[in-house]
Amino acid sequence: MLTKCEGIVIRSTDYGETNKIINIYTREFGKIGVMARGAKKPSSRLAAISQLFTYGHFLIQTSKGLGTLQQGEMISSMRAIREDIFKTAYASYIVELLDKSVEDKKTNPYLFELLYMTLQYINEDYDMDIMTNIFEMKMLNVLGMYPIMNQCALCGEKEGRFAFSIRENGIICHRCFEKDPYHLALSQPAIKLLRLFYYFDIGRLGNISVKPETKKELRNTISMYYDEYSGLHLKSKRFLDQIDHLRQSFDRN
Ligand SMILES: [Zn+2]
Repeated sequence: MLTKCEGIVIRSTDYGETNKIINIYTREFGKIGVMARGAKKPSSRLAAISQLFTYGHFLIQTSKGLGTLQQGEMISSMRAIREDIFKTAYASYIVELLDKSVEDKKTNPYLFELLYMTLQYINEDYDMDIMTNIFEMKMLNVLGMYPIMNQCALCGEKEGRFAFSIRENGIICHRCFEKDPYHLALSQPAIKLLRLFYYFDIGRLGNISVKPETKKELRNTISMYYDEYSGLHLKSKRFLDQIDHLRQSFDRN
């Protein structure tokens, strides 16, 4: 049977001399794996459409096992991502995080939209650290992590100064700080941003400008929280951390 879908290539692996196996995250079916015959050959009509980050329409011959990609129509190659090593590193982490977090063929149009908008914003030169942090905060529920971000996770108080507690799974207020001696003493702007990233609708993103110190707080907190609860160990994340040191040394010059 032939099926048409809209999707983004989130993994592309060489298979044999000339073929590729690609994972596509689709609006209609969630994650699917397909064989792209001949796609390793530059002359193949499937070569461009099988590249990582490609957004397009795909025509797939479905079967019991792996489907076969028949043809594709590119909507965007996410060219700006492809041509920038830093953007590539961030986007690679985003697609690997998604790939490792979802099962095959579980439809989630909300997640498709999140992936599409995150990559599109990075492609359009929005702040890649912030886009990545938003994506990470929005992926928490998909991974079964539900931090309490709208009130103190211990006493329920909504007013006061807040810190983040990995142990208590959310923010805690200054009255409760001593109950978790290992709480992360974040600045209040960092707390507000974590809350915002978790709850707000990415489609309504304006221009967020965040100080470098605050970005560092966000990155460290989210990384520690993921390390504690997600069970994920992503190659692209290690690479991202390495390349980020490099980027910071460029920025200083
Ligand atoms: Zn409290």
